[in-house]
Amino acid sequence: MVDGKTKILGVIGDPIEHTFSPAMHNAGLNELGLNYIYLPFHVKEERLGECIQGAKAMGIKGLNVTIPHKSNVIKHLDDIDSVASMIGAVNTIQFIYDEDNESSNQDNGINVRTKGFNTDGYGCVRAIEEKTSIKDKKVSITGAGGAARAVAFQIANSGIDELSILNRNLSKAQSLANDLKINLESIGIDISINAYDLEELKRELSDSDIFIDTTPIGMYPNVDDKPVASADMLHEDLLVNDIVYTPMKTSLIREAELANAEVVYGYKMLLYQGIRSFEIWLGREAPADVMENALLDVLGI
Ligand code: NAP
Repeated sequence: MVDGKTKILGVIGDPIEHTFSPAMHNAGLNELGLNYIYLPFHVKEERLGECIQGAKAMGIKGLNVTIPHKSNVIKHLDDIDSVASMIGAVNTIQFIYDEDNESSNQDNGINVRTKGFNTDGYGCVRAIEEKTSIKDKKVSITGAGGAARAVAFQIANSGIDELSILNRNLSKAQSLANDLKINLESIGIDISINAYDLEELKRELSDSDIFIDTTPIGMYPNVDDKPVASADMLHEDLLVNDIVYTPMKTSLIREAELANAEVVYGYKMLLYQGIRSFEIWLGREAPADVMENALLDVLGI
């Protein structure tokens, strides 16, 4: 029940009408009996600065940020977490109010600070670690776009041994590998890049422990597309994570099952990035089961 004390969380993006986040977050907020509501906001690129200032002035408690604002929003924030800074993208904004000053919310944002986080990579790593430890593993990633950056930085920070990045556009893979090497110099991971083609991928996967596909291949409506030719390119000691979540069972996941590989569905990354955002804003453990059921429900699974 919304009343005069209800606090606001939300998600900004353009477009925004297809977001699954409100269902997941509102279920979590209701479960904990918190007087909060989570809303979608359609924000155009040219109004991003005004949006953040307006959110501060209105006492908004937290925002998720989705496409296309994840990088551009950074210049409008007061502070940024180190992982988000390395990734160069923010998907979560915490609004930190001066709680000692009751009137601070109405203070045109003067006593409010914003801090940006990126929880996408955390979501992916937590989803995989439900099934297996990442430590000392060889991880192969296909794609070098926004999601791959978030995943690669978090994975590279999680004690892995070797990272192989395969991308159609090799210079984008090179650029991601360079950024990883510069930012994570002391970590000592073996990072290699390859063009994404079936031969290279087959070779890289043959001695990989974990395969994360961050390309949109197989996403609805192109549900028959897959990044591998067949199950023969996979093996039973491999964990396969397709971050595409529509459909839940992508063609890649089906091939992985045929190969008796362990699978991690893409919706799990979506779930855990949301759970981490929830915990950043509210400072308490999120009700994961309830949020997962709400997400599965809204995804029609
Ligand atoms: P992006 O920035 O556009 O990057 C897409 C990457 O995939 C690029 O590296 C691109 O290669 C590669 N790619 C695209 N089509 C390809 C094809 N047909 N063959 C080979 N490579 C191809 O997109 P993004 O933001 O990273 O998102 C990628 C996917 O992840 C989307 O499906 C998105 O829905 C999903 N996602 C899921 C979650 C989750 O929580 N589960 C979170 C974020 C994103 P080039 O560089 O050569 O163009």
